[in-house]
Amino acid sequence: MSTYNEIQCPACSGKIIIDTKLLLSGGNFSCTTMSCNASVSLSNSSYHVANSAMDEFDKIKTAAQLS
Ligand SMILES: [Zn+2]
Repeated sequence: MSTYNEIQCPACSGKIIIDTKLLLSGGNFSCTTMSCNASVSLSNSSYHVANSAMDEFDKIKTAAQLS
């Protein structure tokens, strides 16, 4: 079962692909846009970004379970 999820980059509105398990274990993930250096993780100042991403995960999981 995949734990990968996609969130919207807070800097450029592009995609950031993140692995939920890795995120929770301290990994960080970079924006897929070549010219954008944004990254999200739970261990740096972008915590709030990851935190709101987790809210999105909950919505995605709920939707997945319903379908
Ligand atoms: Zn970006």
